[in-house]
Amino acid sequence: MFTSVLIIDDSVTVREQIIRTLESFKLFSRYYEAEDGMEGFKILLSSPVDIILCDLEMPRIDGFKFLRMLKTRPDHQDVPVIILTGTNDRDRKIKGLEQGASDYITKPFDPEELVARVNIHLKIKKLQDDLRRSNELLLELSNTDHLTGLFNRRYMMKALDKELQRSIRNGGSLSLIMLDIDHFKRVNDGFGHQQGDVVLQNVALILQKELRSYDCAARYGGEEFVAILPDSSLKESVLVAERIRLAVQNTIFNGPLVKLSLTVSLGVACFSHEHTATVDGFIKLADDALYRAKGNGRNRVEFNDPEQLRSPAITTDLPHRT
Ligand code: GH3
Ligand code: MG
Ligand code: MG
Ligand code: MG
Repeated sequence: MFTSVLIIDDSVTVREQIIRTLESFKLFSRYYEAEDGMEGFKILLSSPVDIILCDLEMPRIDGFKFLRMLKTRPDHQDVPVIILTGTNDRDRKIKGLEQGASDYITKPFDPEELVARVNIHLKIKKLQDDLRRSNELLLELSNTDHLTGLFNRRYMMKALDKELQRSIRNGGSLSLIMLDIDHFKRVNDGFGHQQGDVVLQNVALILQKELRSYDCAARYGGEEFVAILPDSSLKESVLVAERIRLAVQNTIFNGPLVKLSLTVSLGVACFSHEHTATVDGFIKLADDALYRAKGNGRNRVEFNDPEQLRSPAITTDLPHRT
């Protein structure tokens, strides 16, 4: 990986001295130079760097203005800035540190001190970057179902709450599909738990394939899945559910599962102020429809129209297998 530094100083001599010093310690593979804050800022926009050395006194955009501009860019918040100050600049050093600089170096600088300070801040930045990446990974893991790679129930509940609030605010349509594998116990009993897991992974893949990128598919628990469909009417979502049902029914498994005929039952509900204003109410509506799909013979889609609270069964031309 390239390590890069941006040196902002109106004096060519100072820039050259710094670069020569840093080059002799082979700390960086890329050096960027700018003669004032504005030029430095422009470089940053196209070439993110690992550390910045910035003079305070410069014509046009000086070091303080540069620090203020940097604060407006969240993507550059973690880049350490070492300010270059005169020996007697006590107040300016403090002001620079208060405005976001990580450290200062007094000019004329001592080469070894410059390198030592740069090294410390590179090390801190690396630790911060590692920590951020670990946190991102942890967040991803805490939101993910480890078996299927779909979102887990925890994440789904949060996402549904967010989408509900959005629908309440904007009046947009929002639908929920609940899916339960039919007779999954028989799959486990007949093919073993491990093959049962393979089936769950296959159903997850079908969901991902049939849903749009901004829909949210989650494993709700055991062999139950949920899909959140923002901006989808009840009619559209019932069609999606039907597509999923068919895709599962038409899946041909290989290997040990070659003889398996898999089907799923689905319940669909659509947002309404009266009946689905809470996450639990919304889930219950979809769950009730799913329950009816099971009762009406499985391998089918049922829905709850909250406006009418009636639920005609979706008729399909295909025979139902249970
Ligand atoms: P129905 O058609 O009424 O939904 O019947 P079913 O057999 O699918 O439903 P039931 O709730 O009786 O059984 C669900 C089974 O799912 C029981 C449980 O052992 C199994 N199961 C839950 N989680 C997992 C898992 O992570 N892996 C595997 N292989 N099986 C699981
Ligand atoms: Mg200067
Ligand atoms: Mg179940
Ligand atoms: Mg089941």
